[in-house]
Amino acid sequence: MSSVLIALGGNVGDVRATFAKAIPMICGMMQAALIARSSDYTTPPWGDEQQDPFINACIEIDTGLDPHALLFVLHRIEAKFGRDRNNERRWGPRPLDLDIIAYDDVQFEKPELTLPHPRLFERAFVLVPLAEIAPDRHIAGQTPLAALADLDTTGIERLPPLT
Ligand code: ATP
Ligand code: CA
Ligand code: CA
Repeated sequence: MSSVLIALGGNVGDVRATFAKAIPMICGMMQAALIARSSDYTTPPWGDEQQDPFINACIEIDTGLDPHALLFVLHRIEAKFGRDRNNERRWGPRPLDLDIIAYDDVQFEKPELTLPHPRLFERAFVLVPLAEIAPDRHIAGQTPLAALADLDTTGIERLPPLT
């Protein structure tokens, strides 16, 4: 089994309800065990500021699927929740984005999949939820907690659990 960190994001529709349904779907379709789930956070949009705030979270799962199979399944789940990759702008509004942040200590760079995620350490909206569940995990020589010290976390707010 491999330990995988996945970042969830979205800003279209009821994103927290989407996460609540997508997480068991991820585990079911990947025959994966859910090891940890962060809180949900509201975060300012990144890369393209002319859009609604996002909701972000991170999970850790244990799975036997290889990284490419995992990405394939994640794309299918995004589509189930209305993600239409053919009609969206880069870093624009979307109901669900599922990124593989890290897969064990695997490192490679291919056009369709780079591990760890190449922009991970520039993004407080990924590192804040990640630091909640894996603060000291070594990812490409850094840790989420240490990396966060260099980033602006203005506007990122933890949301209370859904009842
Ligand atoms: P970003 O990758 O900067 O977070 P994004 O999530 O908005 O941007 P998408 O349109 O969702 O980008 O994905 C573009 C492509 O990125 C995907 O089709 C996928 O093949 C590729 N990709 C490369 N590395 C990863 C990764 N670690 N996790 C998810 N997708 C990845
Ligand atoms: Ca992304
Ligand atoms: Ca993505």
